[in-house]
Amino acid sequence: MSATYDPNNIFARILKGEIPSVKLYEDADVVAFMDVMPQAPGHLLVIPRQGSRNLLDADPAVLAKLMPVVQKLALAAKEAFEADGIYVAQFNEPAAGQTVFHLHFHVIPRHDGQPLKPHSGGMEDIEVLKANAEKIKACL
Ligand code: AMP
Repeated sequence: MSATYDPNNIFARILKGEIPSVKLYEDADVVAFMDVMPQAPGHLLVIPRQGSRNLLDADPAVLAKLMPVVQKLALAAKEAFEADGIYVAQFNEPAAGQTVFHLHFHVIPRHDGQPLKPHSGGMEDIEVLKANAEKIKACL
């Protein structure tokens, strides 16, 4: 039996403005903000406003709105960090590494020869997140 969507998950609370985030982009359907435990500088998350646990229960019409924004943020992050590549990741259920149960895509700038930090590792300083967000926003 699959679990249901919890409307009080941490990303739903960010969407409702109940907890803060370092925002990068928002429109009627999609929001992007900095990951607080970045695996590399510029690590960001793109989420739909509509709630689903992950890709498996998402409305395809929501995905159609979401993916162009993932691409837009990936291009901006690549330019902002002069990245050699961009890693896009999305996990479905705990067995696959999912820890927050509101659909999200990770967008992470990668540089040749530089390893990623662990997933959900240390919290980044808020001022560093804000400075990195400004760099990305300047490339949107
Ligand atoms: P996952 O569900 O495993 O795909 O990853 C959830 C991601 O959300 C992790 O990379 C966390 O660092 C990140 N995260 C958790 N809480 C917050 C938050 N309040 N604001 C921004 N990112 C968060």
